[in-house]
Amino acid sequence: EAIIRCEGLRKTYGSVEALKGLNLTVYPHSIFGLLGPNGAGKSTTIKLLTRQIRPTSGQAWVAGASITSAKADVRARIGYLSEQPALYTWMSGQEFLDFTGELFGLSARDRRRRRDELLELVGLTAAARRRIGSYSNGMRQRLGIAQALVNRPEVLFLDEPVSALDPIGRKEILELFQRLKGEATVFFSSHVLADVDRICDAVAVLNRGELLVQASITELKERY
Ligand code: ADP
Ligand code: ADP
Repeated sequence: EAIIRCEGLRKTYGSVEALKGLNLTVYPHSIFGLLGPNGAGKSTTIKLLTRQIRPTSGQAWVAGASITSAKADVRARIGYLSEQPALYTWMSGQEFLDFTGELFGLSARDRRRRRDELLELVGLTAAARRRIGSYSNGMRQRLGIAQALVNRPEVLFLDEPVSALDPIGRKEILELFQRLKGEATVFFSSHVLADVDRICDAVAVLNRGELLVQASITELKERY
């Protein structure tokens, strides 16, 4: 049973056809990589699947619900990390996750528990009381991932999560994705083949709004 399915998903911005009828299937508890050069339509795809924008035509389902349905509860089952996440640099990592838990309506006890669990998961326990302003880019990105997970989403969408990182930061995030598989399906975009080929269970390659290929990594390696 698929956790994400796109059928003929299309998006135009004026005369720009950003996505030209995308068909895609993603299975639960997998790491899915959306690969493609700048302008390929990766952000557009992620924005559509997280309901930030609406399709021009076509349809998609995420975690059992259509992306065009008005049911509010589905949003809570999806986590999203933008390419440039906004973090409150004056807060400590711990305060930031607490604050996020409060926004989601968790009780003080539940937020503390979730916060500590997530700090551990993303490897920020030792830095929990430090100001975010003093964090490295990689640490900020890991905190952004923790924030997106506070509400226990079934699917986590990340737009170019490793593009701005150095090789060590990149490796840490990719390893973290592997640990996340038990918690959620990870759907992330990248323009670098090396990021997806090592850790993804399946990949799709986009170019100019068109799907060039969707396959498991094993299939891809046999074919190319
Ligand atoms: P990617 O994330 O792969 O770089 P995008 O989805 O951001 O690609 O963009 C796909 C195409 O749509 C590009 O040509 C881009 O310039 C265009 N585009 C994206 N967002 C907008 C927008 N809000 N208005 C007009 N054109 C846009
Ligand atoms: P990305 O590489 O993630 O697509 P961009 O720098 O291309 O990021 O785009 C940043 C923001 O500007 C996005 O919200 C995108 O939708 C929007 N955008 C991209 N291209 C255009 C465009 N040609 N006209 C208007 N907005 C655009």
